[in-house]
Amino acid sequence: MQRTEKVLQLRGQQGRSVRVVREHYLRPDVPCRSGLCGAACPRDGKLLSDDVTHYVVPDWKVAQDYLEILEFPELKGIIFMQTACQAVQHQKGRRQYNKLRNLVKDARHDCIVFANEFHQHSYVPREKGESMEKWQTRSIYNATVWYYNHCLGQMPLVMVTEDEDAIRRYGNETEGVFVISFKNYLDNFWPDLKAAHELFESITQARRERESESQENNGKEYPEHLPMEILEAGVKSGRYIQGILNVNKHRAQLEAFVRLQGVGSKETVSRSHHSLSCQYILGTLTLI
Ligand SMILES: [Zn+2]
Repeated sequence: MQRTEKVLQLRGQQGRSVRVVREHYLRPDVPCRSGLCGAACPRDGKLLSDDVTHYVVPDWKVAQDYLEILEFPELKGIIFMQTACQAVQHQKGRRQYNKLRNLVKDARHDCIVFANEFHQHSYVPREKGESMEKWQTRSIYNATVWYYNHCLGQMPLVMVTEDEDAIRRYGNETEGVFVISFKNYLDNFWPDLKAAHELFESITQARRERESESQENNGKEYPEHLPMEILEAGVKSGRYIQGILNVNKHRAQLEAFVRLQGVGSKETVSRSHHSLSCQYILGTLTLI
């Protein structure tokens, strides 16, 4: 067994991000759970069928967003990598994660979980500066290649991802391992599964609407008057003044004060020139 460290970013109760370092143990013998295995992995429990044309590996985002499609009993030979399962658990919450767990437990569905992050040859540590999302995709691809080789190339593997970069980078990298979009997968492998295509359309439509909404407000409740760099440069050059806005909580619509930094004075901001004044303010908003 090999010991390594894994850095996790967890969200705290107030939405603050907390960095946690965990000891991480890697083993040489994590079972693949495929009926094709010739490497003496334990064969107890549910095994992935060998009577399919390919195995399919959903990337984390596909597992998060399209789980309801992966639940179609027609889709067989699905390998959920541990990395994808954890992404569902952390980003989508307990309800969706339980759905995934039930799907994997259900003997009628031909799908399994492979604990890729515990296997010493399929685990890849996160690189410095690499985003969580990119690392998750790279981990899943790496584990897919491992799985293909572990089954001695007897079964083509198709990784389905929403990451265009990954499609370009990994698409032609390993013979027998295909990296394509989920849409492409449904179009080519399941052209007649009409209900799956319809569900795909409605899920992507809902996601597009959510994304354009959050893009409009830039993820914030109100759009910024000026970008942060311009404000910072303006404060440095003396063009803008930095201060703290204190809003009168009893007359929040009407009255606020700006406490200037390094200056003892207060400046009243009245409603009439409120929006104009806000452009000059860089700092915290507090209620008095
Ligand atoms: Zn095996």
